[in-house]
This record gives sequence, C-alpha cells and structure tokens, in this order.
Amino acid sequence: MKKTAFLTLEKAKEITAQIPTPFHLYDEAGIRANARALKKAFSWNKGFKEFFAVKATPNPYILKILHEEGCGCDCATYSELLLAEAVGITGHDVMFSSNVTPRKDMEKARELGAYINLDDATHVDFLAGLGPVPETVCLRFNPGGSFSLGNTIMDMPRDAKYGMTEDQMAGAINRLMKLGTKHFGIHAFLASNTTTNEYYPELASQLFRLAVRLRNATGADFSFINLSGGIGVDYRPEQPRCDIQAIGDGVRMRYEQIMNPAGMGNVAIYTELGRFMLAPFGHLVSTVLHQKHIYREYIGLDACAADLMRPAMYGAYHHITVLGKEDAILDHVYDVTGGLCENNDKFAIERSLPQIDVGDLVVIHDTGAHGFSMGYNYNGKLRSAEVLLKEDGSFQLIRRAETPMDYFATLDVTEFQFHN
Ligand SMILES: *Cc1c(COP(=O)(O)O)cnc(C)c1O
Repeated sequence: MKKTAFLTLEKAKEITAQIPTPFHLYDEAGIRANARALKKAFSWNKGFKEFFAVKATPNPYILKILHEEGCGCDCATYSELLLAEAVGITGHDVMFSSNVTPRKDMEKARELGAYINLDDATHVDFLAGLGPVPETVCLRFNPGGSFSLGNTIMDMPRDAKYGMTEDQMAGAINRLMKLGTKHFGIHAFLASNTTTNEYYPELASQLFRLAVRLRNATGADFSFINLSGGIGVDYRPEQPRCDIQAIGDGVRMRYEQIMNPAGMGNVAIYTELGRFMLAPFGHLVSTVLHQKHIYREYIGLDACAADLMRPAMYGAYHHITVLGKEDAILDHVYDVTGGLCENNDKFAIERSLPQIDVGDLVVIHDTGAHGFSMGYNYNGKLRSAEVLLKEDGSFQLIRRAETPMDYFATLDVTEFQFHN
C-alpha cells in the first residue's frame, strides 16, 4: 500500500516556525480511530480491554488520549507506574507485566491496585512477602519449543527469559489459592511485530486450551486471558496491513470453539498492544542539513539514531517521505544518515527517493511506538521534542527538547562549571 504522511509541507512549516526539528509528531485523530477499531473488533467479548504498553510511547498526553478511548496501561517498571498514576490510571486499569522485578516496583504496583502479572512461580512468595495476596493474579506462560503458524516458525519461546511452564503455573495457582487469591489471568507474548491476522487467533487458541486444562487441574476461576502485544504494522509499503476486524473475528471463533463449551464463556480478553496502537501515528520530522557526494550519495539529517534506534539496532525499514515532493519521481538513490559517530546511524541505505535539497523537511514514518522511547544520549545528542497534532489541526508541544543542561543535570557539578 502506498504510504502517505499525515503531515503536509504547509502544516510542517507552521509547526517548525515555532518548534525546531527534529521532533516526534503524533496524530491524535489516527490514534483515536485505531483505538476505536480495536475496541469494535473485540466488542463481542464483554470484558474486553486494551492495556497500552507504556514502554512504546511513555508520554502522559498519549496515555490520556488512549484512556479516554477506554484503554488502560501496561507497565513494567516503577517509572511507568508513576506515569500511569499521574494520568489518573490506577487499579484494574493497570496491568503490571514486569520481569526481574525490584521490590520497590512490586510495592508500587500493589499500592496502585494494579493487576499483577507474575513472570515466575518463585514470585508467588515474593508477592506474598509484601502483604496479603491480591484477589486476582495473572501468570505469564512460556510454552517452550517454537511458536509456528503453519510452516513458519515465528519465534522460539524456549530461548525466551519470560514466563513459566504449565506445571509451574498449576503449582503457583494452588499456592496462591491457599493464600487467598480467588481469580486468575493468563498471559503470554510469543511473537513480536507479526503482520499476519493469524497470530492472535493461534495464541488465543493455545491460551484458551491452557486455561481449560488449568481450570480442570486446579479448580481455579479464570477471569481473563491476556493476549499481550505483538500485532505488527506495515513498515514497508509492500507489506500487508493487519486487519484488526479479521483478528478479532479469528479470536472469537477460537473462543466459541474452546471457551464456550468448557463453560468459560464469561472470561474477558485483554490485550497489551503497543506498536499496533501508536507506531503508524507517529512521524519523526527532520530537516536536511547537508549533502555529500563520495562513493555514495549521502543526505544528512538533524535527527539521528538517538531519536530512532530501530534502523541501527535491528536494520529495520522506516519509510521516508520528503514533504512537498510526495509525487516526484524517485530517480535518486541516497543513504539518509544522522550525525552520530557510528556508521550504523543510517535511516535508509541505498533508498530510491526524489531529488533532495538542503533545507527539505523529511518525515520518517511509523515512529509512534518504540521510537522516542528507545532514544538515548550517545555522543551528547539531546532527546528531541514530542508534538501532538490534534484532531482540529492545531498542535501542542507535549515534551520539550532536551537542553545541554538537562544532559549535564545528573553530574556532580560542584567541581565543574557548565555554560550553556
Ligand atoms: C513490549 C511489550 C508489549 C507491547 O508489545 P508491542 O510489540 O509493542 O505490541 C506488551 N506486553 C509486554 C509484556 C511487553 O513486554
């Protein structure tokens, strides 16, 4: 599918007159419409709820928009819990899916009344050591082996550090019931960034069967199945786009086949999507600073891998649009780079693009999730701003750019003087 930016050159000029590039821009209208489509696709399930994976886009303005659309938060750390709390998202609107959990983090999750998703059976005693066990506890499953769809191996759960075995889950449930827990949830995250409509239905069918077996083995009451994250997005124009309605229908079919006959037709479906909720609705907006012509043609941007790590880290493709040249022929081949002293700081390698000039405004697509949040300060590069493009077309700075003084703020400056 042709990828088009949600930002026009005209609007970009209006924003950059006030907020210098680079910045991450988020499309409120797109975020809301997508959240509604997800909700609709699972509306057949009475208790359905999405817990947005905060790590994907940890900005309270974004969390608030999603909360208004009925989403909660999926948190993994103390700081993420503080973010949820600051937005007024507490209690069973928070899923705490952590691993290698510090005591302080677990205590904060308990204080907020969050659902606790235990990564390991040994964490039952860890949890019990903090006070009375919660009424409802979620357990994270790791089936081991490989996870396949048809003939395609999607991922290798046996190599993953997360979750516990089925036997360990049964043991944890028995122990928790003795301690006073009354209801249980099951969680598993078995493949990331999937672009097939079959991932969730297959995962659901495995978890539904597991829930029936565990119910039969322990007599426990299950109140939800948490399908976690993993629905992907079409980073490349030629990739298929997930059809959330088809995904919801696929999960429904498995639910009716497995859960209804087992008398478990009142179990809620939960999700913890991050990428699917936000990635397409974020652009990294950047200005062309330089061009150089050596063995290849290079375009140098004012953004770098510190603003978007995925290309450098995973070799990930991110589509690029040169604003105002959307319909120009792609008759140039460029490497598009940032300014880190690292040769992997390339947003695109040998990419066909229209002719680019110094000063052009460039949009890097699908940066709304795992974009800003994976940023870092290597080379003293400062974290960019985040801007919200609102439904009425106006815009709002929702995080200012870092200054050099922010970068130095954690140093012991009694001995050194910094001048900005
Ligand atoms: C990262 C993560 C998610 C979100 O994953 P996406 O690929 O962004 O959908 C959800 N749950 C847990 C536990 C995670 O670690």
